[in-house]
Amino acid sequence: MENSFFNENTLDDLLDEIEYVYLSDNRPWIIGYSGGKDSTVVVHLVYSMLLRLDPGKRAKHVYVVSSDTMVENPLIKAYLSEMLDSLNAASAKSGLPLTAHPVRPEPGNTFWANIIGRGFPTPNLNGRFRWCTDRLKIDPSGKFIEDVIRRENKEVVVLLGVRKAESIARKRRIEGREIMGRLLNRHESIKKAFVYPPIVELTTNDVWKILLSNDRCTAWGGDNSKLVNLYTDADGECPFAGISSKDEQQQSCGNSRFGCWVCSVVKEDKSLNGFIRSGHRELIPLQQFRQWLIDLRWVPGKRENKMRGGRIYYTKDGDLGYGPFTWEARQEILTELLQLQKRIGYELITIGELRAIDAIWDEELDLSRRTLVELYYRVTGDKLPWHDLKAPLLDSAAVSEVENYAARYDIPISLIRDMILAAEKNKYFSNAKLLRNALDKAVTQHYLFEDRLRDYIYEN
Ligand code: SF4
Repeated sequence: MENSFFNENTLDDLLDEIEYVYLSDNRPWIIGYSGGKDSTVVVHLVYSMLLRLDPGKRAKHVYVVSSDTMVENPLIKAYLSEMLDSLNAASAKSGLPLTAHPVRPEPGNTFWANIIGRGFPTPNLNGRFRWCTDRLKIDPSGKFIEDVIRRENKEVVVLLGVRKAESIARKRRIEGREIMGRLLNRHESIKKAFVYPPIVELTTNDVWKILLSNDRCTAWGGDNSKLVNLYTDADGECPFAGISSKDEQQQSCGNSRFGCWVCSVVKEDKSLNGFIRSGHRELIPLQQFRQWLIDLRWVPGKRENKMRGGRIYYTKDGDLGYGPFTWEARQEILTELLQLQKRIGYELITIGELRAIDAIWDEELDLSRRTLVELYYRVTGDKLPWHDLKAPLLDSAAVSEVENYAARYDIPISLIRDMILAAEKNKYFSNAKLLRNALDKAVTQHYLFEDRLRDYIYEN
């Protein structure tokens, strides 16, 4: 017989425990909701508990937080948005102190802002620079939690849909953090937060049993058949679900069942391919773009031979290692992405992200300050809202003059550009040291001394 939680307990026992924890203090609750089965069941149980609780005792607020990476699979995005809307509508109608909130990365820290703006290489499984989960999932939910702590001026309890039965490794991690005899543990990275895992003892079958009972309806009236269909059609998840690259710990809201549509960490995106196999042919262009982007990482000439900031390193074969995408490659990615967006009529990159990328290019690369707005106009036929407002830092005649100068004196154009932009950025500060330091930094970048560094490294 399976080791089911329900062999020795009833659903009411579980609701009693949740109610006991809810009533035991005044700390607001925050539930990380990914749309997967485990977090759905947590929201369902908490909602059910609130419904049966005397209204006078519903004293503290429950925030349901759902992470939207802004590169969600369109099917999951639509499903999540429908669920959050229905949850908010039902909760308001029943007068429950529960609200649902999507959280997103800041426009300047999204997948596209980092790839196209800063040139970060697409994350890959064995790469040292695994930047995506923290920036796209963990940090936005962490910020939400910190905001609630500040606004309510209280400690909070974070409810996670983690279960011991998920894997032996996860069971060990959970048990390692358990404090005997207590239902709450301290959150490992947020000081004023505690963690409560209400379904920690449930098996996978227990979870499905709850979701499929009650005519497959959630407590707020959502239809779990849709969830079942998503699980049937897809087969895959974020490979780093719930793991922060900094401390390898389980975090709220990072536990996503479905990965980003553009995920380059897995060789095969099982959920995307699964959806296509089950008939969602509209996702084929996304699948093709994803593959193109993954391959671009390895195409010669598409990435710098230096890191951002000018540092260099050598591979074990003695070759110069790769850094960010070149500016030309970033423009190519943006062009392809905008063309795809236009073709499929589905928003893949927002205006806010474009504005953030434009600001990054202005600060780091673009002497003309017109590259992004002109590219957008060329590809889409539309002008960005700030198209006519952007004055160039240098007009095109001055830019070609600078390029000629660089060629004549054999000076890397990137060095001259970095110096002009450093001067521009610091020219209004009365402290001249800032400008001096910025110029020093520009002229001492490692890549400028590559030949001497190589000799030094190989002599030592
Ligand atoms: S699904 Fe892939 S790209 Fe998205 S956060 Fe997870 S590992 Fe990163």
